[in-house]
Amino acid sequence: MPVRAAVDVCDLAPSYVSAMAPYQPGKPLSELERELGIAGAVKLASNENPLGPSPRVLAALKSALGEIARYPDGNGFELKRAIARRHGVPESAIILGNGSNDVLELVARTFLTPGAAAVYAQYAFAVYPLVTQATGATGIAVAARNFGHDLNAMARAVADQVKVVFVANPNNPTGTLLRPREVLTFLEAVSPRVLVVLDEAYAEYLPDELKPESVAWLAQFPNLIVTRTFSKAFGLAGLRVGYGLAHPEVADLMNRVRQPFNVNSLAQVAAVAALDDEAFVAQSRELNRQGMVQITSGLRSLGIDFIPSYGNFVTFRVPDAQGVYDRLLRLGVIVRPIASYGMPDYLRVTIGLRDENGRFLSALEQAFSR
Ligand SMILES: *Cc1c(COP(=O)(O)O)cnc(C)c1O
Repeated sequence: MPVRAAVDVCDLAPSYVSAMAPYQPGKPLSELERELGIAGAVKLASNENPLGPSPRVLAALKSALGEIARYPDGNGFELKRAIARRHGVPESAIILGNGSNDVLELVARTFLTPGAAAVYAQYAFAVYPLVTQATGATGIAVAARNFGHDLNAMARAVADQVKVVFVANPNNPTGTLLRPREVLTFLEAVSPRVLVVLDEAYAEYLPDELKPESVAWLAQFPNLIVTRTFSKAFGLAGLRVGYGLAHPEVADLMNRVRQPFNVNSLAQVAAVAALDDEAFVAQSRELNRQGMVQITSGLRSLGIDFIPSYGNFVTFRVPDAQGVYDRLLRLGVIVRPIASYGMPDYLRVTIGLRDENGRFLSALEQAFSR
């Protein structure tokens, strides 16, 4: 039975909205520092780029500051042109978003309705159930296999009312990766009447031999949408910008639903500069590779199990994860509890700078041995 809200107008919201559990973001640094009365805490909770934005992005932003009294370009001309060149797709295939979260939400608002359904994997990115539920559609979570997507089971779960399938590759928070062959087989198995969202937020971290040719698949599968973000390897999480690549007719539908100025002017300028700065992305990838070795070997020497990860984070298993999380906080290190993902025995840590990783490992040793 729905509980009656204290404020009458809240009863106007459909029950699928009042039943939603809010997204739980990583604890902000400033909040922890206020609480502890300290400076210099370390945040390894939200898969942000520890290098910060690139100098080229900062320079581009400075020169654009004078323009912020004007509305942004609602069609994102320059940014679409840069993305189109990068991927060899027409501008008409691009949907820009206020973060790729916005693109995921546009998928839901464009294609889902009460009575429809969306399929995603157990332990997949929390935004898929959220955007699905907000439309009144039903979410179908397919049991994971080794913490990753079971694509065969997901293909079997596509029943009549299923309009959208979300696939995160690599997945957050488990870091698992599907091989290109598996994804292709899946795309071939799924009806062309179902939209497949391939969320590649961590694509830039993959070594070349593991990078899927997902953009090339768009030509063969008009029901595919590939999403990318500037929040991770490009270092722009605070500006909110991401994009989807899809068949132009799909992109056109989604562009009708979005807010006219969903990507702000500074985000557009920064994203163009970031896309150009390949050296910075390469540096971010290399730093992440080294940090992943540092953290996983540290976990191993503490005797802590972890899920091998292809992203810029790693998820590990500790007894009393909530207690370990709290003790890490008191030691000035923020990681991410993932109980809301149905993984109450796990914590997720983002790969940081060498020193930050070191601080995490020594804090974990203390927090863990108590
Ligand atoms: C971080 C992340 C995103 C990106 O979110 P933005 O809105 O672009 O910041 C998308 N999908 C997954 C799986 C992620 O982990």
